[in-house]
Amino acid sequence: MVLEIDFKVREMLAQKAEGEPYICYQCGTCTVSCLLNPEIPVRKVIRNIQLGVVPKYSEIWKCITCNYCGAMCPRGVDISKILRSIRVMLYEEKQVPEGFNEILWTVYENGNPLGSSKRERFSWASDLKFSDKPEVLLYTCCLSSYDKRLQNVLRSLVNILQAAGVEVGVLGERESCCGDVVYHTGEDYFLEEIALNNASAIEDMKPNVVITVSPHVYHLFKNVYPKYGAELSMPVMHHVEYLAELLDSGRLKTGKLNKKVTYHDPCYLGRYNGVFEAPRSLIEAVDGVEFVEMEHNRMDTLCCGGGGGGIWTENKEARGVTRNRLDEVAEVEAEAMVTACPYCIRMFEDENKIMGYTFPVIDVVEILSQSMGGR
Ligand code: SF4
Ligand code: SF4
Repeated sequence: MVLEIDFKVREMLAQKAEGEPYICYQCGTCTVSCLLNPEIPVRKVIRNIQLGVVPKYSEIWKCITCNYCGAMCPRGVDISKILRSIRVMLYEEKQVPEGFNEILWTVYENGNPLGSSKRERFSWASDLKFSDKPEVLLYTCCLSSYDKRLQNVLRSLVNILQAAGVEVGVLGERESCCGDVVYHTGEDYFLEEIALNNASAIEDMKPNVVITVSPHVYHLFKNVYPKYGAELSMPVMHHVEYLAELLDSGRLKTGKLNKKVTYHDPCYLGRYNGVFEAPRSLIEAVDGVEFVEMEHNRMDTLCCGGGGGGIWTENKEARGVTRNRLDEVAEVEAEAMVTACPYCIRMFEDENKIMGYTFPVIDVVEILSQSMGGR
């Protein structure tokens, strides 16, 4: 076989990935630990970059960006940065799978990847009252805003915050997609535009803190927007972090719920951002709850299969990943799977229906709400 070598491609990818490919010493741990193994030959992909082999890389689009491989790498290579740099290069070369291109255009046209009306974004909150000069700005995310089941998480969160005396605000018509799927398609110019618009809308409201229900929004605001000149001047917190602070300060009072539950660490909250203890402290603060860990937890958590654009693009290979996690919930005989991410809830609920398990998948906020007599 004759390989096509192009050193310009090698330099371009190494530059986009900030030198990470050259740290790799080719042990292969990433390939064998990949949650989609054997779909993505991670070691070989990196070797090809090192050698300047012109890539085909169609398998890159299957990656659910769980970063399990990165957590296992003995050299600490930022593999997710390398894999995204390939997507950016492929986008620049106009080599994008149909599903990703379609979703990108849906975001262009509607401001969200669901193709829903902008006017409907806050229909879930028509009877709620918000502050114009809030202590806390709640950034809702597209999936939570438009998905009827996930709207319950938003409503429960607002109710709990307001019951604790917190002044809550929302962006209303100025809120749009955070750009998560745009980021994973590699369309950097559009992402920059989204980041600058969102940051400007948030800054205009001048909240003390921004809280997000989605770990994907959280990750973008904290770690990605600053690279596009859209760094926020106030702290960004995931709702579990903010609620844990309210609990510590005595402003949040939990109730009672007799249930055996387990917690699934979402990749972008846990593995990417190190938020492991806040959700556990909230769950364990509920009187009557029996908390049990699954085999894989914290840095070693498994994945729902919805990251990297997977939730929007019918990533068939990722279904096994979703199923493996649901099996772990069943193994510990939990009566509820608690998590803190709208993608996780949607992915696990959908697959749960097919698998026939009867335990519900709920957000940390919902277990708090149920303990206080709500939904
Ligand atoms: S685990 Fe790390 S060092 Fe080993 S092949 Fe993969 S990226 Fe390279
Ligand atoms: S991020 Fe996850 S799916 Fe992607 S290559 Fe690494 S382990 Fe595999």
